[in-house]
Amino acid sequence: MDPSQLARAEAARGFMPGDEGIALYEAGLEAVGAVPGRPLLEIGSYCGKSAVYLGTAARERDTVLFSLDHHRGSEENQPGWEHHDPTLMDPELGVMDTLPFFRRTVHEAGLEGWVVALVGDSPTVARYWTTPLALLFIDGGHGEQPAHRDYEMWTPFVAPSGILAVHDVFPDPADGGRPPHEIYLRAIESGNFEEVREVGSLRILRRLAHGSEHVPDARFG
Ligand code: SAH
Ligand code: MG
Repeated sequence: MDPSQLARAEAARGFMPGDEGIALYEAGLEAVGAVPGRPLLEIGSYCGKSAVYLGTAARERDTVLFSLDHHRGSEENQPGWEHHDPTLMDPELGVMDTLPFFRRTVHEAGLEGWVVALVGDSPTVARYWTTPLALLFIDGGHGEQPAHRDYEMWTPFVAPSGILAVHDVFPDPADGGRPPHEIYLRAIESGNFEEVREVGSLRILRRLAHGSEHVPDARFG
Protein backbone atom coordinates (compact mmCIF):
# COMPACT_ATOMS: atom_id res chain seq x y z
CA MET A 1 0.00 0.00 0.00
CA ASP A 2 1.18 3.49 -0.83
CA PRO A 3 3.03 4.83 2.26
CA SER A 4 1.16 8.16 2.44
CA GLN A 5 -2.19 6.38 2.16
CA LEU A 6 -1.10 3.91 4.83
CA ALA A 7 -0.19 6.84 7.09
CA ARG A 8 -3.73 8.25 6.63
CA ALA A 9 -5.27 4.89 7.53
CA GLU A 10 -3.08 4.56 10.59
CA ALA A 11 -3.94 8.10 11.73
CA ALA A 12 -7.71 7.51 11.41
CA ARG A 13 -9.70 6.90 14.56
CA GLY A 14 -10.94 3.36 14.97
CA PHE A 15 -10.36 -0.29 15.69
CA MET A 16 -8.11 -1.72 12.99
CA PRO A 17 -4.46 -2.61 13.73
CA GLY A 18 -2.12 -1.78 10.86
CA ASP A 19 -1.14 -5.34 9.93
CA GLU A 20 -4.79 -6.40 9.83
CA GLY A 21 -5.69 -3.34 7.77
CA ILE A 22 -3.04 -4.18 5.18
CA ALA A 23 -4.34 -7.75 5.04
CA LEU A 24 -7.80 -6.31 4.35
CA TYR A 25 -6.42 -4.11 1.59
CA GLU A 26 -4.68 -7.10 0.02
CA ALA A 27 -7.84 -9.21 0.33
CA GLY A 28 -9.75 -6.43 -1.43
CA LEU A 29 -7.33 -6.44 -4.36
CA GLU A 30 -7.44 -10.23 -4.58
CA ALA A 31 -11.22 -10.37 -4.33
CA VAL A 32 -11.77 -8.06 -7.27
CA GLY A 33 -9.23 -10.07 -9.25
CA ALA A 34 -11.30 -13.20 -8.61
CA VAL A 35 -14.71 -11.53 -9.01
CA PRO A 36 -14.23 -8.70 -11.51
CA GLY A 37 -16.67 -5.81 -11.57
CA ARG A 38 -18.31 -6.55 -8.24
CA PRO A 39 -18.14 -4.18 -5.25
CA LEU A 40 -16.79 -4.57 -1.73
CA LEU A 41 -19.04 -4.07 1.30
CA GLU A 42 -18.18 -3.60 4.95
CA ILE A 43 -20.54 -3.69 7.92
CA GLY A 44 -19.21 -1.32 10.59
CA SER A 45 -17.79 1.93 9.22
CA TYR A 46 -17.31 3.74 12.55
CA CYS A 47 -14.91 6.63 11.74
CA GLY A 48 -13.67 5.17 8.46
CA LYS A 49 -10.44 3.44 9.43
CA SER A 50 -11.07 0.09 7.73
CA ALA A 51 -12.75 2.01 4.87
CA VAL A 52 -9.40 3.59 4.02
CA TYR A 53 -7.79 0.17 3.57
CA LEU A 54 -10.69 -1.34 1.62
CA GLY A 55 -11.52 1.87 -0.26
CA THR A 56 -7.93 2.16 -1.45
CA ALA A 57 -8.17 -1.37 -2.85
CA ALA A 58 -11.48 -0.43 -4.54
CA ARG A 59 -9.88 2.65 -6.10
CA GLU A 60 -6.94 0.63 -7.42
CA ARG A 61 -9.27 -1.98 -8.94
CA ASP A 62 -11.90 0.36 -10.36
CA THR A 63 -14.75 -0.74 -8.11
CA VAL A 64 -16.37 0.72 -4.99
CA LEU A 65 -16.65 0.00 -1.30
CA PHE A 66 -20.09 0.27 0.28
CA SER A 67 -19.53 1.08 3.94
CA LEU A 68 -22.57 0.38 6.10
CA ASP A 69 -23.27 1.77 9.56
CA HIS A 70 -26.16 3.46 11.35
CA HIS A 71 -23.43 5.62 12.92
CA ARG A 72 -25.07 5.44 16.34
CA GLY A 73 -22.42 3.10 17.74
CA SER A 74 -22.52 -0.46 18.99
CA GLU A 75 -23.46 -1.38 22.54
CA GLU A 76 -19.83 -1.23 23.66
CA ASN A 77 -19.47 2.30 22.20
CA GLN A 78 -22.27 3.78 24.33
CA PRO A 79 -21.63 6.04 27.37
CA GLY A 80 -20.41 3.98 30.31
CA TRP A 81 -19.08 1.15 28.16
CA GLU A 82 -15.52 0.09 27.48
CA HIS A 83 -15.14 1.50 23.95
CA HIS A 84 -16.93 4.83 24.45
CA ASP A 85 -15.38 7.99 23.03
CA PRO A 86 -17.24 11.06 24.38
CA THR A 87 -16.02 13.23 21.51
CA LEU A 88 -18.22 11.19 19.13
CA MET A 89 -21.47 12.30 20.80
CA ASP A 90 -23.92 14.69 19.14
CA PRO A 91 -24.14 17.20 22.01
CA GLU A 92 -27.66 18.39 21.16
CA LEU A 93 -29.23 15.02 20.54
CA GLY A 94 -27.27 13.14 23.20
CA VAL A 95 -26.60 10.22 20.84
CA MET A 96 -23.48 9.07 19.07
CA ASP A 97 -22.85 10.28 15.55
CA THR A 98 -19.75 8.93 13.84
CA LEU A 99 -20.86 9.95 10.33
CA PRO A 100 -19.10 13.37 10.29
CA PHE A 101 -15.84 11.71 11.35
CA PHE A 102 -16.29 8.98 8.75
CA ARG A 103 -16.83 11.57 6.00
CA ARG A 104 -13.76 13.50 7.05
CA THR A 105 -11.58 10.37 7.00
CA VAL A 106 -12.82 9.37 3.54
CA HIS A 107 -12.35 12.88 2.20
CA GLU A 108 -8.83 13.21 3.56
CA ALA A 109 -7.90 9.84 2.04
CA GLY A 110 -9.09 11.01 -1.39
CA LEU A 111 -11.66 8.22 -1.52
CA GLU A 112 -14.98 10.03 -1.97
CA GLY A 113 -15.32 8.60 -5.47
CA TRP A 114 -14.82 5.02 -4.26
CA VAL A 115 -16.39 4.79 -0.82
CA VAL A 116 -20.18 5.01 -0.63
CA ALA A 117 -21.71 5.40 2.83
CA LEU A 118 -24.82 3.36 3.50
CA VAL A 119 -26.36 4.92 6.59
CA GLY A 120 -28.82 2.57 8.21
CA ASP A 121 -29.42 -0.57 10.20
CA SER A 122 -27.64 -3.58 8.74
CA PRO A 123 -30.58 -6.05 8.57
CA THR A 124 -32.82 -3.38 7.08
CA VAL A 125 -30.36 -2.71 4.27
CA ALA A 126 -29.70 -6.45 3.77
CA ARG A 127 -33.39 -7.08 3.29
CA TYR A 128 -33.39 -4.97 0.12
CA TRP A 129 -29.86 -5.69 -1.10
CA THR A 130 -29.46 -7.75 -4.29
CA THR A 131 -25.90 -7.21 -5.60
CA PRO A 132 -23.31 -10.01 -5.41
CA LEU A 133 -20.13 -8.96 -3.64
CA ALA A 134 -16.45 -9.50 -4.40
CA LEU A 135 -15.73 -9.03 -0.68
CA LEU A 136 -17.82 -8.80 2.49
CA PHE A 137 -16.22 -7.57 5.70
CA ILE A 138 -18.21 -8.18 8.89
CA ASP A 139 -17.24 -5.78 11.70
CA GLY A 140 -20.60 -4.41 12.88
CA GLY A 141 -22.50 -5.25 16.05
CA HIS A 142 -20.57 -7.86 18.03
CA GLY A 143 -23.47 -9.07 20.20
CA GLU A 144 -24.99 -12.51 19.74
CA GLN A 145 -27.97 -11.48 17.66
CA PRO A 146 -26.37 -8.75 15.51
CA ALA A 147 -23.36 -10.87 14.54
CA HIS A 148 -25.37 -13.96 13.63
CA ARG A 149 -27.92 -11.85 11.75
CA ASP A 150 -25.16 -10.18 9.74
CA TYR A 151 -23.77 -13.61 8.94
CA GLU A 152 -27.13 -14.99 7.87
CA MET A 153 -28.32 -12.01 5.89
CA TRP A 154 -25.11 -10.91 4.17
CA THR A 155 -22.87 -13.92 3.50
CA PRO A 156 -25.21 -15.27 0.76
CA PHE A 157 -24.16 -12.23 -1.29
CA VAL A 158 -20.49 -13.23 -1.39
CA ALA A 159 -19.93 -14.37 -4.97
CA PRO A 160 -18.17 -17.68 -5.74
CA SER A 161 -14.40 -17.16 -5.29
CA GLY A 162 -15.19 -13.95 -3.41
CA ILE A 163 -13.89 -13.11 0.05
CA LEU A 164 -15.57 -13.13 3.46
CA ALA A 165 -13.55 -11.31 6.12
CA VAL A 166 -14.53 -11.38 9.79
CA HIS A 167 -13.02 -9.16 12.47
CA ASP A 168 -12.54 -9.69 16.22
CA VAL A 169 -12.35 -13.47 16.01
CA PHE A 170 -10.88 -14.65 19.32
CA PRO A 171 -10.39 -18.40 19.80
CA ASP A 172 -9.68 -17.80 23.51
CA PRO A 173 -12.74 -16.37 25.34
CA ALA A 174 -10.33 -14.47 27.61
CA ASP A 175 -9.41 -12.27 24.62
CA GLY A 176 -12.88 -11.15 23.58
CA GLY A 177 -16.53 -11.83 22.88
CA ARG A 178 -17.78 -15.06 21.31
CA PRO A 179 -20.11 -14.05 18.45
CA PRO A 180 -17.49 -13.13 15.81
CA HIS A 181 -15.71 -16.42 16.53
CA GLU A 182 -19.02 -18.28 16.25
CA ILE A 183 -19.87 -16.83 12.86
CA TYR A 184 -16.37 -17.57 11.61
CA LEU A 185 -16.93 -21.21 12.62
CA ARG A 186 -20.34 -21.21 10.97
CA ALA A 187 -18.77 -20.08 7.71
CA ILE A 188 -16.16 -22.86 7.83
CA GLU A 189 -18.69 -25.50 8.91
CA SER A 190 -21.11 -24.48 6.15
CA GLY A 191 -18.69 -26.07 3.70
CA ASN A 192 -18.98 -22.96 1.52
CA PHE A 193 -15.82 -21.19 2.67
CA GLU A 194 -12.15 -22.06 3.10
CA GLU A 195 -9.79 -20.08 5.28
CA VAL A 196 -7.03 -18.35 3.37
CA ARG A 197 -5.42 -16.09 5.95
CA GLU A 198 -5.30 -15.21 9.63
CA VAL A 199 -3.82 -11.92 10.87
CA GLY A 200 -4.45 -10.94 14.49
CA SER A 201 -8.20 -11.23 15.04
CA LEU A 202 -8.90 -10.96 11.30
CA ARG A 203 -9.93 -14.05 9.35
CA ILE A 204 -9.98 -14.08 5.57
CA LEU A 205 -12.12 -16.79 3.96
CA ARG A 206 -12.83 -17.54 0.32
CA ARG A 207 -16.13 -18.81 -1.02
CA LEU A 208 -15.57 -22.05 -2.88
CA ALA A 209 -15.96 -21.64 -6.60
CA HIS A 210 -18.58 -24.33 -7.12
CA GLY A 211 -22.17 -23.28 -7.60
CA SER A 212 -23.49 -20.22 -9.29
CA GLU A 213 -23.46 -16.66 -8.09
CA HIS A 214 -26.51 -16.57 -5.90
CA VAL A 215 -28.81 -14.16 -4.19
CA PRO A 216 -30.42 -15.48 -1.00
CA ASP A 217 -33.72 -17.05 -0.23
CA ALA A 218 -37.18 -16.99 -1.66
CA ARG A 219 -37.55 -13.23 -1.60
CA PHE A 220 -36.31 -13.02 -5.17
CA GLY A 221 -37.79 -16.27 -6.45
N1 SAH B 1 -14.45 -1.07 11.00
C1 SAH B 1 -14.35 -0.01 12.00
C2 SAH B 1 -14.87 -0.39 13.37
C3 SAH B 1 -16.35 -0.75 13.41
S1 SAH B 1 -17.01 -0.63 15.05
C4 SAH B 1 -12.90 0.48 12.07
O1 SAH B 1 -12.09 0.13 11.22
O2 SAH B 1 -12.58 1.24 12.99
C5 SAH B 1 -18.60 -1.31 14.82
C6 SAH B 1 -19.59 -0.38 14.13
O3 SAH B 1 -20.74 -1.16 13.82
C7 SAH B 1 -20.08 0.81 14.95
O4 SAH B 1 -19.74 2.02 14.31
C8 SAH B 1 -21.60 0.61 15.01
O5 SAH B 1 -22.36 1.82 14.87
C9 SAH B 1 -21.87 -0.30 13.86
N2 SAH B 1 -23.08 -1.11 14.01
C10 SAH B 1 -23.41 -1.89 15.07
N3 SAH B 1 -24.60 -2.48 14.87
C11 SAH B 1 -25.04 -2.05 13.65
C12 SAH B 1 -26.24 -2.28 12.89
N4 SAH B 1 -27.19 -3.09 13.33
N5 SAH B 1 -26.36 -1.67 11.70
C13 SAH B 1 -25.40 -0.84 11.25
N6 SAH B 1 -24.24 -0.59 11.92
C14 SAH B 1 -24.07 -1.17 13.11
MG1 MG C 1 -13.48 -4.83 14.80
